[in-house]
Amino acid sequence: GSVYGYKLYRSRQWYNEMRDSELTIGQKPRVVVLGTGWGAVPLLKHIDTSKYEVVCVSPRNYFLMTPLLPSVSVGTVETRTVIEPIRTLVGPRIKYIETECINVNPKEKIITCSADGTKEITVAASDRDKLPLEQNIEDNKEGGSSSRKIRDSARTRPKFDMKYDYLVVAIGSENNTFGIPGVEKHAHFLKEVLDARRIRSAISDAFESAMVPSQTDEEKKRLLHFVVVGGGPTGVEFAAELADYVREDLKRYFPRLVENDVKITLIEALDHVLSMMDKKISDYTEKHFHRENIEVLINTFVKGIKQREVIVQEKGSTELKSIPCAVVVWATGIKARPLTNKLRETIGTDKQNNRMGLLTDKYLRVKGVDDGTIYALGDCATIEQQKLLDRIQLLFEESDIHKRGALTLDEFRSLIENKINEYPQLEIFQKGIEKSFYEADKTKSGQITLEALRSVLEKADKKLRSLPATAQVATQEGRYVADLLNYMAHPTTTTTSERFKPFNYTHLGSLAYVGGDAAVIDFSGSKPLLDIFSLKPLSGRGSYYLWKSFYFTEQFTTRTKVLLAFDWLRSNIFGRDLSR
Ligand code: FAD
Ligand code: NAD
Repeated sequence: GSVYGYKLYRSRQWYNEMRDSELTIGQKPRVVVLGTGWGAVPLLKHIDTSKYEVVCVSPRNYFLMTPLLPSVSVGTVETRTVIEPIRTLVGPRIKYIETECINVNPKEKIITCSADGTKEITVAASDRDKLPLEQNIEDNKEGGSSSRKIRDSARTRPKFDMKYDYLVVAIGSENNTFGIPGVEKHAHFLKEVLDARRIRSAISDAFESAMVPSQTDEEKKRLLHFVVVGGGPTGVEFAAELADYVREDLKRYFPRLVENDVKITLIEALDHVLSMMDKKISDYTEKHFHRENIEVLINTFVKGIKQREVIVQEKGSTELKSIPCAVVVWATGIKARPLTNKLRETIGTDKQNNRMGLLTDKYLRVKGVDDGTIYALGDCATIEQQKLLDRIQLLFEESDIHKRGALTLDEFRSLIENKINEYPQLEIFQKGIEKSFYEADKTKSGQITLEALRSVLEKADKKLRSLPATAQVATQEGRYVADLLNYMAHPTTTTTSERFKPFNYTHLGSLAYVGGDAAVIDFSGSKPLLDIFSLKPLSGRGSYYLWKSFYFTEQFTTRTKVLLAFDWLRSNIFGRDLSR
């Protein structure tokens, strides 16, 4: 008894020491980074650990190469090729804790991380595929074969608090269902690696079910109707990969089913797919999909999903139609995670009034956190856009040096040059300051009035767009915050970040794979290097090779580069693996 008591005493003492070290901070300021995605990893790689103690907290102990997920969902690329353990990526200089942050207290500068232990839930046997792999599955005696009890008993992890000096929130986003009934239950998302595996398994299941003798023709058609909801890049890339899989591999093994029963439908609520890209690219993709046997239903809104059908409504009609199908992939965009919303509420929704994510200033500091100790980046954050027109009076008075009630060309030029850092939308005038000035100076008086300036600046404000939720943005933001924190730790830095340049995004173009060895590339809005060539949108096979080489070089490590090259070669020579 006493031995046991002593052991208990020692383990409690050890536990308390652990707890204290999380709560107290050592000599270096502690930076806590939430997430292991596109935003967090570049930050973790570049932050100076001789200046900061860096702790990364995330429930996912690997980085995920999301652009290759559609390829994983059909088996062109294997799971292990698209993930990289966070510990090997960032090395031992950064402490990693596998858990989920569930609360942030900005006043005390403490985060709370979740307890993760035994839980028992009952799920229908048909939903077994939807469970994480690490969960143990036991038959539930009472439920018989129709339900399973899931016991996650091997792990117990206590809830804990941790202090921070700086917190970086890079927790990404989650799938938006818009509350449409049946989506959570019957559709597949395509966001995490497990989603891709489940889709792969569901495709295999559909074909094997259709092959069972005595299956009716009607049922075969339903089983092999694959519906993709959302014509954004995720939906388009998945539909493209699926069409490739059907044509290149499934056709060989299920020739009659592919000939008679397989159908892929992409449903988009707007009047064209890839609406964020150049119109030429949307048109090209729709025509290309027609050739690839993918039916595109535009102006069609999905109103509900049931186990065996999708309910749709066409624009301008009140009639609801049913589309029989078995596998539905839901890709209608993203929304903020619960923790993002909780933090917005803690800070106050008067300051945090953007439901898409955490509003930040141009240094990526979360608005409403007065001491500037919380940064947010990637999908969970939005940089507040300052409109020139909101401050036009002040801008005008500041620039009107001679107090003539009008601006000369030189005064207009200095306004643009001095304020471009604060208002990046002024960039549209940079190449043609004189031209813009003379266009606004309608009376040819050599100066422009407040009203004329208003019409000029309005054009710039119209160019304001929040940055897209892409890996490209998240990576640049992660790198920026690392540089900013490193700068702030420099001994010669007296004040905070004010002397550091605000974040400035460099768009390099958008690309998407559309199947049949073709890709589309949109350079619009790209700057500054590509802009000088005024590159036109590209599509077709050439773009496909660019797409391939881009993602090959984008791989974070040589290991994944080798795996990717091997996967592509394997799929080409032997075909994809048809098993679950
Ligand atoms: P994520 O990369 O999603 O990372 C979020 C991290 O936070 C994860 O590690 C997660 O586990 C962790 N986390 C979540 N909750 C918590 C919590 N409570 N506490 C701690 N950690 C938490 N973009 C492109 O630019 N090009 C593409 O080709 C492209 N293709 C895509 C294809 C698909 C199928 C998808 C789904 C997305 C694609 N994107 C692409 C978008 C891109 O993946 C996202 O914009 C990017 O992942 C955002 O990075 P992030 O760091 O904000 O979030
Ligand atoms: P998205 O928001 O880009 O597109 C979703 C589409 O679904 C929209 O066109 C919308 O009109 C449609 N939609 C919404 N509700 C609908 C409904 N009920 N019925 C029918 N259609 C409906 O979403 P996504 O494709 O999931 O992309 C999410 C983010 O990830 C975006 O920021 C995107 O840029 C990024 N991403 C980029 C790439 C790439 O660059 N290749 C690939 C994948 C994702």
